Amino acid sequence: MAKRGMLIVLSGPSGVGKGTVRKEIFSHDNNNKFHYSISMTTRKMRPGEVNGKDYYFVSKEEFEKEIENGGMLEYAKYVDNYYGTPLKYVNEMLDAGKDVFLEIEVNGAMQVRKKVPDGLFIFLTPPDLMELRQRIINRGTDDMETIDKRMNKAVDEIEMMQNYDYAVVNDEVVKAAEKIKTIIRAERWRVKRFLPDYRKQLGLEE
Ligand code: 5GP
Repeated sequence: MAKRGMLIVLSGPSGVGKGTVRKEIFSHDNNNKFHYSISMTTRKMRPGEVNGKDYYFVSKEEFEKEIENGGMLEYAKYVDNYYGTPLKYVNEMLDAGKDVFLEIEVNGAMQVRKKVPDGLFIFLTPPDLMELRQRIINRGTDDMETIDKRMNKAVDEIEMMQNYDYAVVNDEVVKAAEKIKTIIRAERWRVKRFLPDYRKQLGLEE
């Protein structure tokens, strides 16, 4: 039986540019050796989007039926619409030893973390989180209310980050995509992912 594939989860706060970075990763001739799992959603198709490529666009009833049937690895409601990861594709790919890439919002990512603790969890973070301190020092640039709002948002985001294995700052899309690919490449050689296979070969493990 093939070694089970690795589940890669890219997540991060809303508006950070997850979709853009994911598209950048998959836009080049895919030498990445990991496969994008197309999400299911109840939101309306945007111009230029293709059903079955960008998302599986379904009705609320269809989505709820999938939930009921245990067909979703995770799902979340985001701005009044459902978004979720169909379980079947992910399982089939992982069973075949292939790595699967999810790009999902944070609530869904936490559900996956519980179900698949040995997944690789990457947090995409906005560059201005890093500039925050400086902004607060230069108080002239923002009023107090804006600073407070930004501070609260930053605190939430920083707290979320601790549930992930890696953080990537989305300062430039191409660079962020490169960093993510590098992380994935390195992660494959982590001893914890590598050793069980060797142990099996030596008959030390089932
Ligand atoms: P959009 O409507 O802009 O395509 O996506 C809105 C949000 O839903 C983004 O943050 C995106 O990462 C997230 N999203 C897309 N697919 C999934 C999914 O399958 N599950 C979850 N939990 N979030 C998703």
